[in-house]
Amino acid sequence: MSIATALSPAADLPRGRSDLVVVGAGIVGLAHAVEAVRRGLSVTVVERDRRPVGASVRNFGHCCITAQEGDLLGLAERSRTGWLDAAGRAGLWAPEAGALVVARSATELAVLEELRDERGADAVRLRTRDQVGDALGRAADARGDLVGGALLPADLRVNPREAAPRLAAWLAEQPGATVVWGTNVTGVGEGTVHTARGDVHGERVLLCVGHDLDRLHPAEAEAHGIERCRLSMARIEAPEAFRTDAAVLTATSMLRYDAFTATPSAAALRAEVTAHSPELLDVVANVMFTRLPDGTVLVGDSHAYDATEIPFQDEAVSALLLREAARVLGVREVRVTERWQGVYASSPRGPLLVRDVAEGVRAISVTSGVGMTLSFGLAAATFDGDLKTTD
Ligand SMILES: Cc1cc2nc3c(=O)[nH]c(=O)nc-3n(C[C@H](O)[C@H](O)[C@H](O)COP(=O)(O)OP(=O)(O)OC[C@H]3O[C@@H](n4cnc5c(N)ncnc54)[C@H](O)[C@@H]3O)c2cc1C
Repeated sequence: MSIATALSPAADLPRGRSDLVVVGAGIVGLAHAVEAVRRGLSVTVVERDRRPVGASVRNFGHCCITAQEGDLLGLAERSRTGWLDAAGRAGLWAPEAGALVVARSATELAVLEELRDERGADAVRLRTRDQVGDALGRAADARGDLVGGALLPADLRVNPREAAPRLAAWLAEQPGATVVWGTNVTGVGEGTVHTARGDVHGERVLLCVGHDLDRLHPAEAEAHGIERCRLSMARIEAPEAFRTDAAVLTATSMLRYDAFTATPSAAALRAEVTAHSPELLDVVANVMFTRLPDGTVLVGDSHAYDATEIPFQDEAVSALLLREAARVLGVREVRVTERWQGVYASSPRGPLLVRDVAEGVRAISVTSGVGMTLSFGLAAATFDGDLKTTD
């Protein structure tokens, strides 16, 4: 039986009071529930759908540790430990494969060298053109555009199709833990979660509903400027020789993540990409890809922001991203097997929303597109009592 089938039936609502009720069975909610169980607490997770279908299953499965800066770097490093622990408990695929950043110009390489100078040669391992070519499976005579690159070994890979469903299935087997599917939460007050099937009670409540916080607490969501960011994604058949489990990042990734944008050469890199590929900046592209255990490859992405997402996907954007991915892979074209639109919470006001919306009720949304990376770090910080509120 597949995990998705196994999760489908809605469970009965628990009658008693849990130590913790988590609303939302995405990775943020599930990481908190797993951490609660690890600390001996009872927990009820309430999810409106019959299986995880939100941002947590639509992403690259890249725990992007090294490219974070400041407080987020600290959270990401804590998260790494939590992911590996959870992977061991729940039997998740979570290779310590790192991320490979491909450099195809001297400016791109300069950004990587500067990050190496700042973080050290263990954290940012520079790679030669041939090492990058080998990792990408590119033939020796088809590496002309490669300059070099860097491996960021602390980064982790997980399978986004598997991680949240398997964590939920594991949780449901733990004493004191219940996962309630197919049950929409309609409101939350002190110690009580109101659902379409009746009330659920807990000492503490965590609202981990991502961008849908605006449906339950519109004022708090608006105060933080929460929007929906939609992303164009595709799954392709892997070129024959492409085998690395590392997440593969490119120049547009270096324009996106803070550790790269903080380097002295970041401005020159933006000018360079503006000159040679303005169409990538127009769609706020982050051209990157990750390989799944079955050998297929997830390719993305673009970013478009609005309060309510437009459902229509522009084929030109998808074609642009696939063309760029093919260039990096060194193949003429790629064969697409699936397309989808990802949606996550975003805010121009900061990467996290952490707000106490009622006594004992806290909302936690990652508003910067790195919720897979931060999830277990947020959970550790929540229970250690050192997660700062952002209001
Ligand atoms: C295309 C794409 C690529 C990405 N790539 C990466 C990446 O490589 N690395 C990374 O770190 N991050 C990445 N992200 C971001 C990451 O996926 C998100 O930040 C993270 O999944 C958010 O987790 P979540 O649990 O908050 O949200 P979700 O996974 O969306 O979960 C929220 C859950 O709450 C439930 N819910 C909502 N309202 C209610 C209600 N009223 N009652 C009950 N349940 C409710 C929803 O059904 C949903 O299951 C990517 C995102 C996308 C879309």
